Amino acid sequence: MIIVLIGPPGSGKSTQGHLIANKYGLPFIGVGDLVRDMIHSDNSEYKKKVNSGNLLPDDVVFGIVKAKLDQYDTDKGFILEGYPRTIGQAKLLDEYLLGKHCSLNCVLYMDNVVDQDIADRIKGRYQCSNCGSTYSKEKVPSNLMCARCGKLLVPRCDDTITSLKCRMQEYKKKSLPVYDYYTENKCVTAINASKSIEEVFEKAVQIIER
Ligand SMILES: [Zn+2]
Repeated sequence: MIIVLIGPPGSGKSTQGHLIANKYGLPFIGVGDLVRDMIHSDNSEYKKKVNSGNLLPDDVVFGIVKAKLDQYDTDKGFILEGYPRTIGQAKLLDEYLLGKHCSLNCVLYMDNVVDQDIADRIKGRYQCSNCGSTYSKEKVPSNLMCARCGKLLVPRCDDTITSLKCRMQEYKKKSLPVYDYYTENKCVTAINASKSIEEVFEKAVQIIER
């Protein structure tokens, strides 16, 4: 089972992706985290781009995704979160899956989240100052120490309001068309993501199992 989760920044993709991955025993691939891991250990132009809220080139992002997918048995399936963010990325994924003789089962689109809710949701997200691990609002340890390496957590560097505005613009311009792209293949379903985590998860399971 191959499931893709797309939607605007702060729409709860990662939270739902983890819940779905746990329920079905599938690997979770969070592409935003992979990109942040990559730029954390890299002082290149990419770091500036991501921190100011811009998207990286399609081939760079797909390279990161492919390296991860190659570690898994794609036949068994996986949950891909925060990818594709452009039509170009969607096409690269389709080609890759075609080469592996498999295809997407379901694309979940996290819809109906208003900009103010997004701003509220991303407030309180943290990242480790040492290893780059990220923590959603609910998962931040109370002592602000990283669960992986024990170092101090700091607010996530691409979560400033200026960066968020830029990410929303990038999202509307480049990522919304991805929804239309998948509509043509009839494999995408929109979920009202303004509901509670439990309600959104219940809806996601219904869609996956129908
Ligand atoms: Zn750490």
